[in-house]
Amino acid sequence: MKAIFLDRDGVVNELVYHEEPGIIDSPFTVAQFKLLPGVAEAIKQFRDMGYTEVIMKRELVDILACPVCKGDLGLNVEDENEREIVSGSLHCLECKVNYPVVDTIPNLLPPKLKDGLRWE
Ligand SMILES: [Zn+2]
Repeated sequence: MKAIFLDRDGVVNELVYHEEPGIIDSPFTVAQFKLLPGVAEAIKQFRDMGYTEVIMKRELVDILACPVCKGDLGLNVEDENEREIVSGSLHCLECKVNYPVVDTIPNLLPPKLKDGLRWE
């Protein structure tokens, strides 16, 4: 398997200015997650070249850990095709935090601002 591992913040998606803490950081919610220009085209080209870029595969669940407590993650699949999980969620078996999978991209953002978060 050929794979390209893409860094996320500032590479795949935009960094977000958070007014409340006054910092520029990762998006804290799915709504703040915006792909940078050209990313979708680049990912398509990687696929055409035979690379399996970072997408939500079941095997990946064994590698990923909860960013909050490093616990193991469980997987709920809402929609998947033969290659990847399209939508669903990961949930921490230890601290019970949920992480959505949207358009094959697992959104493993630590819930830093609990009051502002609306995890499904
Ligand atoms: Zn956890």
